[in-house]
Amino acid sequence: MLEIRNLHVSIDNKPILRGIDLTVKAGEVHAVMGPNGSGKSTLAQVLAGRDNYVVTAGEVRYLGHDLLTLAPEERAREGVFLAFQYPVEIPGVANIYLLKAALNALRKHRGEAELDAVDFLALVRDKLEFMGMDEALLYRPVNQGFSGGEKKRNEILQMAVMQPRLAILDETDSGLDIDALKVVADGIQSMRSPDRAIILVTHYQRLLNYIVPDRVHVLSQGRIALSGGPGLALELEQHGYGWVDADKDSRI
Ligand code: ADP
Ligand code: MG
Ligand code: MG
Repeated sequence: MLEIRNLHVSIDNKPILRGIDLTVKAGEVHAVMGPNGSGKSTLAQVLAGRDNYVVTAGEVRYLGHDLLTLAPEERAREGVFLAFQYPVEIPGVANIYLLKAALNALRKHRGEAELDAVDFLALVRDKLEFMGMDEALLYRPVNQGFSGGEKKRNEILQMAVMQPRLAILDETDSGLDIDALKVVADGIQSMRSPDRAIILVTHYQRLLNYIVPDRVHVLSQGRIALSGGPGLALELEQHGYGWVDADKDSRI
């Protein structure tokens, strides 16, 4: 589904990613871990096509497309979804309006009929209930005045409505109390499917108690310094990131 080869990315001429190789197959969940500033969010943002990130070398293939040549909205239409580490507030746009517009744009692209208001509300209520969210959040401006936990749940709600092929979740677990973490984790877990891949960017191991990934990668100074199975996350929890050195080839 996703094949990243030797990806180098700079911001303001400063190299941030320095040769990322990563292959993610349909049905898999990959955790991307690493210390603050190692480039996790940069990787997520580049895959989603955000501005200001300059790819200086390498390539990214997604379902047979050259992902890097697609505009952000084309990527979204092709099924790439990014949940932001810091979800954006959109004043003046009701949450439900954004959800409906995004879903109908996707359906139109696929040649499917738009959902009418009744069918859409039924769909979104079902997801809302699963996420333990108050229906009033649908009618407020997107993320405006939402608590940290409500914003993170709202990201998962968006994902559940959009049903992406490739979901990239950037620290969707950070700042959540234990109950909210469980709800968010259940929401992500329910999205696991043989034809969907999920990249979970997380600083901490605790989300991976609920969602056991197929592979764990540790970013350090813009490189994948270490890759392994789910046990690697537990080792990191015990030993910290100090023993992972980007410039040493220590892949396992
Ligand atoms: P992580 O998500 O792993 O904490 P980031 O990808 O956010 O790491 O950041 C990686 C590095 O890139 C950091 O040194 C950070 O300061 C730098 N960086 C990120 N975004 C910008 C930006 N917009 N302008 C300049 N430097 C940035
Ligand atoms: Mg960070
Ligand atoms: Mg980050």
